[in-house]
Amino acid sequence: AHLARIGAVDEKVNAFLHVDREGALAQAREVDAKRERGEKLGPLAGVPLALKDLFTTEGVPTTAGSKILEGWIPPYDATVTKRLKDADVVILGKTNMDEFAMGSSTESSAYGPTANPWDLTRIPGGSGGGSAASLAAHMAPLAIGTDTGGSIRQPAAVTGTVGVKPTYGGVSRYGMIAFSSSLDQGGPCARTVLDAALLHSVIAGHDERDSTSIAQPVPDIVAAARNGSASGMRVGVVKEFRGEGYQDGVMQRFDESVELLRELGAEIVELSCPSFTKALAAYYLIAPSECSSNLARFDAMRYGLRSGDDGSHSAEEVTALTREEGFGDEVKRRVMLGTYALSSGYYDAYYGSAQKVRTLITRDFEKAFEQVDVVVSPTSPTTAWPIGERVDDPMAMYLADVCTLPSNLAGNSAMSIPCGLAPEDGLPVGLQIVAPAMADDRLYRVGAALE
Ligand code: GLN
Repeated sequence: AHLARIGAVDEKVNAFLHVDREGALAQAREVDAKRERGEKLGPLAGVPLALKDLFTTEGVPTTAGSKILEGWIPPYDATVTKRLKDADVVILGKTNMDEFAMGSSTESSAYGPTANPWDLTRIPGGSGGGSAASLAAHMAPLAIGTDTGGSIRQPAAVTGTVGVKPTYGGVSRYGMIAFSSSLDQGGPCARTVLDAALLHSVIAGHDERDSTSIAQPVPDIVAAARNGSASGMRVGVVKEFRGEGYQDGVMQRFDESVELLRELGAEIVELSCPSFTKALAAYYLIAPSECSSNLARFDAMRYGLRSGDDGSHSAEEVTALTREEGFGDEVKRRVMLGTYALSSGYYDAYYGSAQKVRTLITRDFEKAFEQVDVVVSPTSPTTAWPIGERVDDPMAMYLADVCTLPSNLAGNSAMSIPCGLAPEDGLPVGLQIVAPAMADDRLYRVGAALE
């Protein structure tokens, strides 16, 4: 049924870069066969899922939304892919995304933009727009995304779906193509809080193949999602998360959600986190710096595309020609910015300062979590904007991330849930809930209470 739905609507939405029809049907048949043999089935047996094209899948193309990886077939599964298979999930295919997860609109994909199912002329958010759109258009009930600065939460917000950025280190990054390693985190996307919890519990947990993976038991997020409650919770509202640039209808729905939390028995606490206003500047130095290092591996020798390999060019020229052709404008912009920020003589002024701001943001959160259990804010300051509107204005694009970036910089956990439609345009608004590291269960408890 889901493959048929993809066949019927994805021509308009472009959520999938690759539909693995044969593989999905084979996995589904295998689940049936196991059931017939009376074998124990995995916890999500037979449930279809859309996988962001940033995760390696053995024998199935993986592009990261980039031309430079066109034609590359990974020889191994990411840990997330493997855990999904072990849970007997049926992987329908790989979803569209901004190239190497750099963007907030899915327009920087080398394979064309994804449309927002609520209004096909608008962006579905990014970088994980394909995963979010596949849920909103009912092409899949579950999806996987990655969140470096908001790429799970902001697409969830603008498509009216649920997205969770787990605690940094909570879900293995092994086989997840690196953008900014100290910020990247894979996580679940779904249409309900409980669905997200069921998926989260399958992919989470320690992995010795990822040195930043946390060797601690994952909190019981499924129980939290089943027992939604805000009663007695202390909920922080950060004053820096409002003001200029925030759409009226977004703030209206946000304020109503805060009221609802109060009615459900939560204690609302006003907070100030002054360093959050510097998060955007710090993030857009740290993420490009790490990306300039991570993307050095795309040298035309090891993976995918190779240009100018006709015997008339040196190896260095082949690398340069391949990068010229294989990388899009946003990726080139960030590699240049990051290389500059890391170069000797500038390191302290840019990267060093950004790291100091990162520490201040972490301290602001620590202070906040001495007073409250969770912090809430809008997920994105606006609803989905028209495709094309911000492509020539990177700063306007980056501003979409103001509310989501602090959690990546601090490494704590955060969720976006739908909180109604903005009155002025009838488009979905997202509520962000943030909890300390390794307290992901609080997100689910509060999220389920509001749902
Ligand atoms: N929009 C942010 C960026 O462009 C975040 C992307 C992400 O989370 N992968 O970097």
